[in-house]
Amino acid sequence: MIVKTKVHTCRKCHGKELTKNGTNACGNQQYHCKTCGAYGVLEPRERYTEEEKELILRAYQERPSMRGIERSYGVCRQTLSTWLKKSRAASTP
Ligand SMILES: [Zn+2]
Repeated sequence: MIVKTKVHTCRKCHGKELTKNGTNACGNQQYHCKTCGAYGVLEPRERYTEEEKELILRAYQERPSMRGIERSYGVCRQTLSTWLKKSRAASTP
């Protein structure tokens, strides 16, 4: 059995010299890369299943209120807008 030790790397340059940089709106730990200067989320977590995501996106289509969705599903607006962008990109021919 191989046990991987978790080393966080920069998502841009894959450098390992990261400093913690507080949390974002969703409460995810953010990093600042000393190598390339990038800022990002340390461990982007997919907390939602595809079904949940679809349900939430469908609810948004019925009532396009990010604040409402945020309140009823506990999805942060950033996450929701990322999903929307992705689903729009996927449905564009
Ligand atoms: Zn970097």
